[in-house]
Amino acid sequence: MPSQQKIEDILKYIKECSPGQDEFYQATEEVLFTLKPLLNEDKRYLEHNILERIVVPERSIIFKINWLDDTGKIQTNLGYRVQFNSSIGPYKGGLRFHPTVNLGIMKFLGFEQIFKNALTGLQIGGAKGGSNFDPKGKSDNEIMKFCQAFMSELYKHIGKHKDVPAGDIGVGAREIGYLFGQYKKLTGEFEGVLTGKGLNWGGSNARKQATGYGSVYFAENFLNAYGKDLKGKKCAVSGSGNVAIYTIEKLYEMGAIPISCSDSKGTIHQEEGIDLKALKVIKELHHESLEEYATVDCRCDYIPVSKYPEGGHAVWHIPCDIAFPSATQNELTLVDAMALKENGCMLINEGANMPTTPDAYEFIKENNILFSPGKAANAGGVATSQLEMSQNASMSQWSFEEVDIKLRTIMQNIFKTAYDTSVEFDCEGDLVTGANIAGFRKVADSMIDQGAV
Ligand code: NAP
Repeated sequence: MPSQQKIEDILKYIKECSPGQDEFYQATEEVLFTLKPLLNEDKRYLEHNILERIVVPERSIIFKINWLDDTGKIQTNLGYRVQFNSSIGPYKGGLRFHPTVNLGIMKFLGFEQIFKNALTGLQIGGAKGGSNFDPKGKSDNEIMKFCQAFMSELYKHIGKHKDVPAGDIGVGAREIGYLFGQYKKLTGEFEGVLTGKGLNWGGSNARKQATGYGSVYFAENFLNAYGKDLKGKKCAVSGSGNVAIYTIEKLYEMGAIPISCSDSKGTIHQEEGIDLKALKVIKELHHESLEEYATVDCRCDYIPVSKYPEGGHAVWHIPCDIAFPSATQNELTLVDAMALKENGCMLINEGANMPTTPDAYEFIKENNILFSPGKAANAGGVATSQLEMSQNASMSQWSFEEVDIKLRTIMQNIFKTAYDTSVEFDCEGDLVTGANIAGFRKVADSMIDQGAV
């Protein structure tokens, strides 16, 4: 089959020219192989060399960030912005501050973002950025100094019609505020160059909640398609950051019971439901570890990482109906998938980006567990970012309810697009294939229209 050979050649080429970028290979491999039915049906994509072109970022910017810590010492970090594809709109994608950040991680996230953004039905291209800066244990002053130093280089490459970053792991409302302040000082422009802004200065209602809420709306749509719903379902959630917190909040609103959360140190299991109020105080207000939650709420079990099952994560070994991986990449392994199956889990709904390892996904597919890929299920955040851009452009601010209604509709449409595409290509309910083909087709057709640029 010509498409099979072509895909293998491209994957070989990627490995040769970008050594050591494992997460990027993982993401490209997953997307390219699912495109085979489309490539075999419509020859234009191979004729126009779309695969070769789409796996190479339009631009990767790497820069040095020098900043002053509280002792007056100069610290150095690396900064990145990978502007992957602008065929359907200006670059859009979050900024991640985490010690594991490197070019391979940025490229995997930027690549995924291309298709996610296309799936939203909105006009936004794909990008990702960030730094290997570790916000943990830094003072507020150090966070501000770092954000200012980061923006002192990034501002040269972004703009409201060019590239509009947002938050991701380690970048929340506080960081967006410092980044925006520095952009304004350097350019003299008050413009919608970042999303996730504060409500007093151009932010959108419901942006903070959008990824978590959107993930739950997506799960509800998927369950409804199979005659089920979220009511009364026990839900295991991982993570305890922005996505996890607002997934838990919306699960309660939909009548489900979120029974877990986790962070990089351990997992909380609380069978009658996580105490959302306490979680918000500990994580959003005090930026503390979940060990603190376990000390203030004695009705829960706390499982430290040292007690996790070998090769797995405790959160997926808690019996549940639905799993919401909402922390980070490759956090749900084969061992975990087997435990979920054993315990009767009916749906795995990815709130994080690529949280499921390839062998875990194969197992999930073989065992007919419903699976929502992150690029569809967590697209509510970027979609609401685009709604923030629209509000900025028209100098308006919509109410929380207005944005939430739009978000619900967008998530419903994303589900329908991915599901209908899976039916079109004879793999009903395989939303990985459905989402990849639908996102790819929109971007690839635009690339063909725009010629060799
Ligand atoms: P966040 O607020 O920074 O929270 C991240 C959570 O994941 C924290 O609980 C963190 O624990 C945990 N975590 C991070 N790295 C980890 C690791 N290596 N091992 C174990 N736990 C780890 O980030 P977020 O915005 O919720 O993002 C979570 C995921 O959703 C990411 O995959 C992100 O790319 C994706 N996503 C986010 C958005 C958005 O709008 N924010 C949109 C789409 C997708 P600690 O607190 O201990 O570090």
